[in-house]
Amino acid sequence: MKTTIDVFNDIQTELDRSFELHGDLPANIVGMTAIMAEEAGECVKAANNCVFHGATVAELEKEAIQTAAMCVKMVMKINKMKVAGVKK
Ligand SMILES: [Mg+2]
Repeated sequence: MKTTIDVFNDIQTELDRSFELHGDLPANIVGMTAIMAEEAGECVKAANNCVFHGATVAELEKEAIQTAAMCVKMVMKINKMKVAGVKK
């Protein structure tokens, strides 16, 4: 079983991969929320595949990590925007 530290390490690895692959999120709160929600939607799809199509939870775990990484990336971007004085 993974420890909390293992899970946070997985999220950090996914966050690093995301920055390398896609760069930062857009400085647009609706756009960045949509990107995070897309990952959450993939998480729901993976859960449905477990329940209705006999998939294993491996894909669900992967999508949950990706969603968590996008939540972290979003909070980081919001904080960068606040530091830069962007109010919306
Ligand atoms: Mg995904």
